Amino acid sequence: MEREIYFDPVFKMARQQFDAVADLLEIHGGERDQLILPKRAISVSIPIHREDGSIAVFQGYRVQHHLALGPTKGGTRFTPTLTLGESAALAVWMSWKCALAGLPYGGAKGGVAVDPRSLTPTELQRVSRRYMLEMIPFVGPQTDIMGPDLGTNEQVMAWFMDSYSSHAGKSVAEIVTGKPTVLGGCAGRREATGRGVVFLVERAYNHLQISPQGGTAIVQGFGNVGSVTACGLAYRTGMKVIGISDQMIALYNPKGIDVSVADRYVAEHKSLEGFDGGEMIDPAELLTLPCDVLVPAAIERVITQSNAGQLRCRILAEAANGPTTPEADAILEQRRDEIFVIPDILCNVGGVVVSYFEWVQDIQNFLWTDTEVIDRLCRILEGAFSAVIRRAKERGISNRSSALSIGIERVRAAKQIRGLFP
Ligand code: NAD
Repeated sequence: MEREIYFDPVFKMARQQFDAVADLLEIHGGERDQLILPKRAISVSIPIHREDGSIAVFQGYRVQHHLALGPTKGGTRFTPTLTLGESAALAVWMSWKCALAGLPYGGAKGGVAVDPRSLTPTELQRVSRRYMLEMIPFVGPQTDIMGPDLGTNEQVMAWFMDSYSSHAGKSVAEIVTGKPTVLGGCAGRREATGRGVVFLVERAYNHLQISPQGGTAIVQGFGNVGSVTACGLAYRTGMKVIGISDQMIALYNPKGIDVSVADRYVAEHKSLEGFDGGEMIDPAELLTLPCDVLVPAAIERVITQSNAGQLRCRILAEAANGPTTPEADAILEQRRDEIFVIPDILCNVGGVVVSYFEWVQDIQNFLWTDTEVIDRLCRILEGAFSAVIRRAKERGISNRSSALSIGIERVRAAKQIRGLFP
């Protein structure tokens, strides 16, 4: 069943990672399928009128992984290559991530197979609203809560919330997170994932007993997560960001790139293309340049068997979901003393933690200050980081196996104690 429905290289990767940890945790037979296979997968057609009068139909998906710990929670991406299998893999990772952070959620993920840059603002609004409309029977504040991801932003979340609310006949802020603050969005949600990455990089430095001051960083992807991370590393941690990239170009400057200027440039031009803060280089080369911290913050499967042996960083901070393939992971495992990996489900957990804060605040109609949010976020990140490091050391396993095993174990415990019905 899994092969037919979720057939996709990203799902295969999530399954491989899970199987390796299931071996460690001695999970066998049908229980493996029970833990990995999603509870629900929804596929919808999204027809819209284009501004030229023609009709276009896009494919939309939502996968809800498990309901053992509470409602499902997860991002919505608008990317041209999105598949049901990719959504399923991301939903599965989201489950382990939420459980690692102790959040009362199962994982979900979905979106629309569309390139948002090919749409006018009006068309983007039509796709967003129609997608939410198609999802109304399957989502809800106590069923499945959406958030932003690749290709979506606060505006798209506002359209989702408005469409759901119009249908409900009342304002339902808690149906999505990552909304603008004026609609009940949480202070600091937009920056939360990147802030979390920066906190964890600092924590890794501290663990390794070295200082980040004056070190160098390279960041792949300059969207929400990549730009906030790059600015945090430069202005909070005192590092020199020597390489950045997006879907169009990669830039290198050994003297350091002024990332706040780059951020303003991207806000205006939608891409780094034309930004003169560094020398243009081959994007593939960016990942293997010498640096202290390498941050993949774009898409899946960029660190592979062919470049994992060539990475020249001290810390690999996986801000993106699934940037490292299992084959690459085996190579990094052999280089464990050279490269400290902050695995994705730990590294980017700050986003869903603050989404959880937003959901809680919206349900209670009660807003926290930026300081309260950051303080609570840091405490959860610290707890998750320490737990991962402790288990990795105690069991002699990689940070990734440690993080995944904590998450998987918690979901397994919830499923076991609830029992199988009927
Ligand atoms: P975004 O759409 O805001 O930005 C994505 C960036 O990646 C853009 O700069 C884009 O140009 C670039 N990009 C796309 N394809 C690329 C390629 N092939 N090579 C280099 N750059 C490329 O998305 P985001 O929200 O910043 O998400 C980035 C990653 O972080 C994704 O893996 C996402 O799942 C993960 N993530 C995001 C959040 C969040 O809160 N937004 C939370 C957790 C994890």
